[in-house]
Amino acid sequence: MKRTYYLETFGCQMNVVDSERIGELLATIGYQPVSQPDDARLILLNTCAVRDKAVRKAYGHLGRFKPLKERNPELIIGLGGCIAQQEGAELLGNFPYLDLVFGTHNIHRLPELVDEVEANRVRCEETEFLDRETRLRLFPSRSDSDQVARFVTVMQGCDNYCSYCVVPYVRGREISRPSGEVLTEVRALASSGVREVTLIGQNVNSYGLRDAEELSFADLLEQVNRVDGIERIRFTTSHPKDLSPQLIDCFGRLGKLCWHLHLPVQSGSNDILRAMNRGYSREHYLEIVRHLKEVCPQIRLSTDIIVGFPGESDEDFNATLDLLAQVCFADIYSFIFSPRRGTAAADLADNTPAAIKQQRFDRMLKLQQELSRQVWQQDVGQVCQVLVEGESKQGAGQLFGRTTWGRIVNFAGERSQVGQTVPVHITRSFKNSQLGELVCQDKLTP
Ligand code: SF4
Repeated sequence: MKRTYYLETFGCQMNVVDSERIGELLATIGYQPVSQPDDARLILLNTCAVRDKAVRKAYGHLGRFKPLKERNPELIIGLGGCIAQQEGAELLGNFPYLDLVFGTHNIHRLPELVDEVEANRVRCEETEFLDRETRLRLFPSRSDSDQVARFVTVMQGCDNYCSYCVVPYVRGREISRPSGEVLTEVRALASSGVREVTLIGQNVNSYGLRDAEELSFADLLEQVNRVDGIERIRFTTSHPKDLSPQLIDCFGRLGKLCWHLHLPVQSGSNDILRAMNRGYSREHYLEIVRHLKEVCPQIRLSTDIIVGFPGESDEDFNATLDLLAQVCFADIYSFIFSPRRGTAAADLADNTPAAIKQQRFDRMLKLQQELSRQVWQQDVGQVCQVLVEGESKQGAGQLFGRTTWGRIVNFAGERSQVGQTVPVHITRSFKNSQLGELVCQDKLTP
């Protein structure tokens, strides 16, 4: 059978980047991607363990592949990412049809592991954390791309130990990639036609903090802002406690930095923030927002909220609603608390009935849907600059791109406009995207 692989990715942008790396590594041993698991000789799942729902979903998908293995014993099934890191060899015991388990630090070993499973019909597990020096050598990197917008990894891991979060245990300690390497990658991507870069890491705001010789994240942004060819810069994920005044000022100073920031707050209650070990108060968060809006009045914010954290009272929850109304986020990503094994919050007494948590969640969504609607509706009737990323799924002759706020806009245009920033008159706003009409350049007022 031809060397073909089918890969499913769960979770965050870090996993998206890891999956690209998996694809590149598999190509070195002759594996080509296919879109259907039935056509694959190798099936891989790159998993996320941040929430219980993501874990159940990954196991559900894994179960779907069991009949394929029964029909074709030559099929190799592998599981990587955060669940693999957390569960290790136990997965091989729990899923007899699983051949390969690889952790978050072991992706680079995939070609050898796949070859070994294939040649010797053995079952393998490799989930050891690597030392700092080795990790620094293995940062995912690209020198070219046929895409308009790309992620560039600037740091990995997390030292924050928020009480609900499994990331420090499954991704390891925080390390920053040398700034010289980051800039080399950004310049190479710009030369190959990339126009927008998103600098990513679990907590990019603390970039360079543990290395006296390294640039701060604000200084790194300033350097990226100078790269010819790059028109837009974004970054994620941010931690409010590490969002320095210098970094906030970048939104007023750096012309290429987009007017959008995802800044997870998690709760509007100081008691809950303390229990979450977040390291900032509600007042501090609101002061950051005030400063951001002062230096960049056009900025739009999005955030993450956890509803029903252990001990959350009605008062705590109302403080979150109040904060949402005060900040007026463009979008929120909200979840009902799910305890993660091994984290501090998993041991906290949790007396709030599930039905109450659900009611709070629904109430919050209702409020936020209206706030989001108001924010995005402001664009209707306006002309926005849209960086065109490609042909839209909406049909022939349709393109899609993003505004500075990260909103997807669909509009009629020509393929040759991909990669260009064009003025688009926004005509309608939906829950997750907008519709527009290209503005002829000669109709624009100077
Ligand atoms: S900052 Fe907190 S929530 Fe974010 S990855 Fe680190 S521990 Fe998890």
